Formats: sequence, structure tokens, C-alpha cells
Amino acid sequence: MKLSREQLLAEMGIAPVWRGRNGLPAAGVASVAGAAAGESAAAEAVAAGGPTAVPETPGAPAVAVDAMDWPELAAAVAACRKCALCEQRRQAVLGVGDRSPDWLFIGEGPGAEEDARGEPFVGQAGKLLDAMLAALGLRRGEKVYIANAVKCRPPGNRTPEAGEMAACRPYLERQVALLRPKVIVLLGKAAVHSLLHEDKSLAALRGQRFEWHGIPVVVTYHPAYLLRNLPDKAKAWEDLLFARRCLREAAMREAPLLI
Ligand code: URA
Ligand code: SF4
Repeated sequence: MKLSREQLLAEMGIAPVWRGRNGLPAAGVASVAGAAAGESAAAEAVAAGGPTAVPETPGAPAVAVDAMDWPELAAAVAACRKCALCEQRRQAVLGVGDRSPDWLFIGEGPGAEEDARGEPFVGQAGKLLDAMLAALGLRRGEKVYIANAVKCRPPGNRTPEAGEMAACRPYLERQVALLRPKVIVLLGKAAVHSLLHEDKSLAALRGQRFEWHGIPVVVTYHPAYLLRNLPDKAKAWEDLLFARRCLREAAMREAPLLI
């Protein structure tokens, strides 16, 4: 059965707020204000990680990462041993989706299910991400690509260390350069740290339009964080609407005569 837009928003836990912002039940508006008041407590902690020893990757390809095409990048990531996360992974998880996307979502790193299945965001957090996509009228794989800051699962799902993110960053950057999305949504602090080199709290970074090589970048909460902090889903929805506006502006700049 196809879910209505209201049902999809309810699935995300944001339906009352959404309606409130459209001037219907006043309780919805109050809950936005309540969520905003809790903002300072909402910052996610990031483990301050020191650089990790980087072992050599045997048989590393001769071509530089920033010159790789998709098959070269996929092969390099699959064989990569540049940081200690390679030791306990079942497989590296490059990413999934449309390779000519409008939207690129970047999370933190694979969890247990992602490590087993080889696809990002297939566990509980992934279900919420899919609901968020559906609320925007989007589907995984159609004009949407999903990736992570690190491609190998951190043991016990700990936050990747700074050195691990630095080791993996060239792959992420090459991926973004090959994808050339119209908007990038960074899900949580690890993605923000990796792509923007920014360590401020998410609460301080939300609602701003950053850029990565001319591509608009928007910051929001990680779906796993939202599952533990339900009131912040309303803020994540605002962030996604902001990202959609950035995307539309970017599309308009690219093809002003077609719109
Ligand atoms: N969390 C992430 O950041 N990425 C995944 O792929 C799954 C959970
Ligand atoms: Fe290589 Fe990235 Fe995996 Fe580390 S996390 S081993 S840098 S692919």
C-alpha cells in the first residue's frame, strides 16, 4: 500500500509539527519551540581521536585516488588497508545509489548490518533515512546516492577516529567529485568533520549553506541520533527542506532558462 504524505511524516515522527507550521494545531508550533529550547543539549559528542597508524596497502593501484574512475575507486576501497578499520571489517562499503544524483547523503560509517550486507544505511538508522527520503518524495537509488565518511565498520560501532577519517577522506572526496550531486546532506558530526573539516556542534552548524567545490552542503543530525532524540526529528525535517531549497537554487543557476 502506498503511504500518504501525512503517513510518511508520521513515520518520521514529525507530522504534528509539520501541520503546526502550516498554521493548523497550535500544539505543533509549541513543540517546535520546545525542540529549539533543547538545542544546546542536542550536540553530539565526537570522540577526540588521535591519528591512527596507517599500514601500507599491498598491491595499491598506481593511479592516484583523485584521478580514479568508478571501477578503480571501488577496487581500491575493497582492497584498502590504509587504516586499522580494515582489520575487523567483513567488507568495505563504498556507497549505493544513482551515480548521477541530485542528492548525496553522507553518514558516519557502516554498522553491523551494513558490514554484513555491503550497503550503507540498511539497519534501523537506514529505515529512518528511507522515511526521510520518502517524505521528500525521494527513493534510495533514484537521484539519491548514500555514502559514509569511513568505508569500513568501526568495531562496536564506535565513532571513527580523526586519523581513520583522514585516511578514508580521499575516497570520499573522489566519490563526491565523480558524483557531482546538486546538494550534499551531511548526517552527523563525523561527516561534517570529514568533508568540511569543521568541529563545531551540529546545533551551531545547522541552517547554514556551506559549499564543497561549488556544491551546496547542508548539515543535519544523524538518523541514529534522531532515533534516540525524537524531538529533534522536527529540526531534521527543517534541515531537509532547507537542503531542497539549496538544491532548487543550484539547479536554477545551472539551467535558468529551463525553469
Ligand atoms: N550509520 C551510518 O552512519 N552509516 C551507515 O551506513 C549505517 C549507520
Ligand atoms: Fe581504507 Fe577507509 Fe577502510 Fe580505513 S576505513 S581501511 S581508509 S577504506
